[in-house]
Amino acid sequence: MIRINEHYRKLKASYLFVEIARRVAAHAAAQPERPVIKLGIGDVTHALPSVAVEGFRKGIAEQAGDETFHGYGPEQGYEFLRELIATADFGERGCDVSADEIFVSDGAKCDTGNFQELFAADITVAVPDPVYPVYVDTNVMAGRTGIWRDGRYDGLVYLPGTSENGFVPPPPSQPVDLVYLCFPNNPTGSTATKAELAEWVSYARKTGAIILFDAAYEEFIRDDSLPHSIYEIDGAREVAVEFRSLSKTAGFTGTRCAYTVVPRELKAFDSQGSPHSVRDLWNRRQSTKFNGVSYPVQTAAAAVFTPEGRKEIRARSDYYLENAALIRTTMEELGYECSGGFNSPYVWIRTGTDSWAFFDDVLNRAGVVITPGAGFGLHGEGYVRISAFNHREKVIEALSRIQAALR
Ligand code: PLP
Repeated sequence: MIRINEHYRKLKASYLFVEIARRVAAHAAAQPERPVIKLGIGDVTHALPSVAVEGFRKGIAEQAGDETFHGYGPEQGYEFLRELIATADFGERGCDVSADEIFVSDGAKCDTGNFQELFAADITVAVPDPVYPVYVDTNVMAGRTGIWRDGRYDGLVYLPGTSENGFVPPPPSQPVDLVYLCFPNNPTGSTATKAELAEWVSYARKTGAIILFDAAYEEFIRDDSLPHSIYEIDGAREVAVEFRSLSKTAGFTGTRCAYTVVPRELKAFDSQGSPHSVRDLWNRRQSTKFNGVSYPVQTAAAAVFTPEGRKEIRARSDYYLENAALIRTTMEELGYECSGGFNSPYVWIRTGTDSWAFFDDVLNRAGVVITPGAGFGLHGEGYVRISAFNHREKVIEALSRIQAALR
């Protein structure tokens, strides 16, 4: 009799966005005359930048001829793309990242989810609360937690993100082995200063922890004093992995391209205490389990890192940030305390009430889909997240419906 991985049974039955979709479908069936406006799931609404479309066409044209055709590519990504990322994305901000430390993939979701498998089953893992659920669920699947009890998994160290700490949890008093951090944050929209990240780097250096730093939203940072990369902090190369994605920055949610940086200095230890290169382990893992991102997607991605491409994605992220500012201003005018919305496409709103009840209220009275904070963890209760990814006229319509319903 074949048996299942019992750890899957610990997972909470319904993924947050599945439950939201169920409630939205029920609402749409009950009130078909008023189409719902979605400011819930963080999916982009604008087409690929024109340079990326051109890059795609170029890649596809090459695939159409025997002489220019590309078969299996390097699992790590083509060098032309990794070199561009190293210079245009990291080099320009003074970060020392080389092409052979960059691994191109089909998503930061996969990479942030898969990375934990390089480490032992009995390490201690810390996650922020509220949190992007992928970090938690993949550790549950790997057997690093006990059961789900009172809104949390036994065995995980939760780092509360609260209004008191500006939704930037400080390092815990106890040592942990692996820490997930995400700035600009999903769901709270918070950003970390250089001093705050330096505190984390210093903690990791002291305790031997590794930081998995998710920078999927770094393109939305406008405040020049804020770090875009953890490698802007001295000493981070020895303790941190960084994940980036073109999903939100360049509209690649349906096209799929992301990249992960694993510095050569980063080490983890075997049971005898001997050091191993984490970069080499990730390389081994990717070479075995992943066959690279399609060639046309990589030519499209490369176009994003040209000066023209960067201009286009800047205009795109400016647009979403203007939406975010409208959302934040409107919710503040209605009397809600907000965070995020600046340097981030998410606005995190304190409702002070049950977040699913608030979600239902906004859905039923305004026909607008938002995200209940409780879906991101215990400390998300009493909050909702509104996403800025939509067309301006939809955002304006959604906000005027919310104003009418909640005023
Ligand atoms: N990391 C964070 C914090 C996210 O919010 C998301 C998507 O919502 C991802 C990663 C996933 O990115 P990708 O589309 O590259 O898989």
